[in-house]
Amino acid sequence: MRSSTKQSINVAIIGAGISGLASGKLLHDQGVGVTVFEKSRGVGGRMATRRLNEENSTFDHGAQYFTARDPRFINYVNNWREQGLVARWPAIELGKDQRIVVLRNGQLQIKPATEDRFVAIPAMNQICKRLSQELTIKKQVRIKSIIPIDERYSLIADNGDSLGTFDKVIVSIPAAQASALLESFPSLSESLSHIVMKPCWATMAAFSDSLTDEWVGAFMEDSLLSWAARNNTKPGRNSSPEHLVLHATPDWSDQNWEASPEEVTKKMLADFWKVSGIEPRKPSYCTAHRWRYAIPAESSKAATYTLDKSKNIICCGDWTLGGRVEAAFLSGLSAAELVLEAI
Ligand SMILES: Cc1cc2nc3c(=O)[nH]c(=O)nc-3n(C[C@H](O)[C@H](O)[C@H](O)COP(=O)(O)OP(=O)(O)OC[C@H]3O[C@@H](n4cnc5c(N)ncnc54)[C@H](O)[C@@H]3O)c2cc1C
Repeated sequence: MRSSTKQSINVAIIGAGISGLASGKLLHDQGVGVTVFEKSRGVGGRMATRRLNEENSTFDHGAQYFTARDPRFINYVNNWREQGLVARWPAIELGKDQRIVVLRNGQLQIKPATEDRFVAIPAMNQICKRLSQELTIKKQVRIKSIIPIDERYSLIADNGDSLGTFDKVIVSIPAAQASALLESFPSLSESLSHIVMKPCWATMAAFSDSLTDEWVGAFMEDSLLSWAARNNTKPGRNSSPEHLVLHATPDWSDQNWEASPEEVTKKMLADFWKVSGIEPRKPSYCTAHRWRYAIPAESSKAATYTLDKSKNIICCGDWTLGGRVEAAFLSGLSAAELVLEAI
């Protein structure tokens, strides 16, 4: 390889979720040139927020909250808390109406908090927005393939445009999507193709009145739902009207993948009233979103997947360390560290 310094290295990152942005921010802070390509209009990936017309009226319909267990991630979270970017949810000291519970058959059971849960303020995608602030992000560009040229890599968009050549590429997207994109690298592509990710249907519903003062989030049992959250109870959100987010179980989501959003919201809400014991009412707004690659079926234990010895292509994301925001973030840091080690 030609002799390189941090400044002369040119890194492409595919995907502006938290793993790609954690990588990008670390590399950028170390003086490495970074360009991030993102197929959507905004950053955040599965740390996603749907905004209604009313100001600050939001649904976090992907990641609901996150926990912090690794000392490095705890450090980042502490900094974010000091900056007012992150806060605990529920705020435990506020008591009864701030609980996370388990709902089954109309019965409520308290779920004792074993660790702090955090959310970003004013919406879940805010951490990603902050991480992306100083980065060059090319939005609405979907990468279709990566072509090796000498010791560099050319990125091709799905419209056929060539987007330049790079010394290293970090692929920070769900494993199945990464596998398809890496077809020029058969052994890496093949190893990623075995990583299974489960789907999730999410329903978002607004109500003019409060649904309950008994809980803010609920794990659902004996239900087609796995989770319910009153998004308006999260810090920095409008406290009314009520913004309910429901997640269906992976099995139900899979079985109902081709159903229409109308059908899905109807069934998910009907089950919510039954399992929660809350009097049914009509939402003022209701929609559904389906996440094809929501959560990995299992974690792979390795923080990154790389291309042979060269480590010029590095794959990262939550599917490596375990389907959580923290896992995605740490995997992204590991990808950046591999780049830095090689310079
Ligand atoms: C419904 C749901 C609930 C969840 N709940 C929680 C929770 O409560 N707590 C928790 O810790 N975690 C939760 N998670 C998991 C958490 O959201 C993820 O672990 C984390 O956000 C993954 O980040 P990532 O960067 O690995 O991937 P992603 O967020 O998926 O980012 C990948 C990015 O790459 C982009 N992309 C994909 N393909 C291409 C391409 N070809 N070209 C350009 N861009 C591309 C995508 O648009 C996306 O922005 C949940 C996820 C879902 C879906």
